[in-house]
Amino acid sequence: MLLCCPTVIPLLDLRAQYDRIKDEIDLAIARVLRSGQYVLGPEVEAFEQEFAQFCTSRHAVGVNSGTSAIYLALLASGIGPGDEVISVPFTFEATVAAIRATGASVRLVDIDPDALTMSPAAVERQITRRTKAIVPVHLFGQPADMDPIVETARRHGLTVIEDACQAHGARYNGRRAGSLGNVGCFSFYPSKNLGTFGEGGMIVTDDAELAERVRQLRSWGPAERSANYRLSALEAAVLRVKLPHLADWTARRQAIAARYGILLSDCPLQLPHAMPYADHVFHIYAVRSSKRDTLAEALQARGIGVAVHYPEPIHLQAKYTDLGYPAGEFPAAEEAANEELSLPIYPELSDDALVRIAETIREHMGTI
Ligand SMILES: *Cc1c(COP(=O)(O)O)cnc(C)c1O
Repeated sequence: MLLCCPTVIPLLDLRAQYDRIKDEIDLAIARVLRSGQYVLGPEVEAFEQEFAQFCTSRHAVGVNSGTSAIYLALLASGIGPGDEVISVPFTFEATVAAIRATGASVRLVDIDPDALTMSPAAVERQITRRTKAIVPVHLFGQPADMDPIVETARRHGLTVIEDACQAHGARYNGRRAGSLGNVGCFSFYPSKNLGTFGEGGMIVTDDAELAERVRQLRSWGPAERSANYRLSALEAAVLRVKLPHLADWTARRQAIAARYGILLSDCPLQLPHAMPYADHVFHIYAVRSSKRDTLAEALQARGIGVAVHYPEPIHLQAKYTDLGYPAGEFPAAEEAANEELSLPIYPELSDDALVRIAETIREHMGTI
């Protein structure tokens, strides 16, 4: 007798993408190995140009991670000790850690409960004489509500640094994430929508002087805090292969999200809100439920990979208690952290797998 043993559906399958573009990738890697130039150089410069164009920005500077991109964008904007920078508590910790690393103080504002991104109305109240920059996060692939944030920044003479590490190719009212503020920061960590096989990051900007300052900071230039934040040629060559595929991969993510929306429409789950201004690229497909933990256990027990992004907002994490915010300070962020559950989403996820995930959820929630 054959026992039914359903295959595991992972949250993310990076190997599946490599399998589909193996020939192109292997050729690009061989090209770099034969070139004899392994750090910065022509591959990195070519990718910088291609990614700048993709973002509709004038300049791009490749660095070794998204964290470095945010940190260097802040330093190049003249931010350091004595300054204040406004960001959000519902994000990956790198956003806040990068701000802190400059020596500036972090001021947090709550998120919009539907968009899960920075509440523009909350920003104004946190601006002081010391405020220098705002760092909105385009969380899960959806741009923050940038027009009012940029308008507030202009009025107060502040720099806007976008954390676009989850939002390659997303658009806000038709305009690309990364090109909406003064400088956009990207990560090419393997799991991102555009990811390499190691580490990488990039800043994009229209400001030639700012780009030049990041270049100087990236590799032992004259600036005091310059060090080694260089991007390697292998990473750039891989990303050059992948960038032309990104539009198709994004379309597939959006189709999967639309399909989840239909298959789960009768479930007592809150599905992601795609805001009217946003072209959401679904880095993460985030549903919400007050019964999140039991749902997560049930899915995992049936071989479906899920995750929680993020179980604790920044201000409640032990490492960040010195920011001085008590529990209850940011109710929308705290509620999102208690309810969020990430379902599998990646371009190679099959329709059969999608149906199985949705049926498993509906079975667990009693809607089958
Ligand atoms: C991934 C990520 C980062 C950091 O990028 P790394 O390349 O891992 O350093 C920063 N912010 C957000 C929102 C991210 O998702």
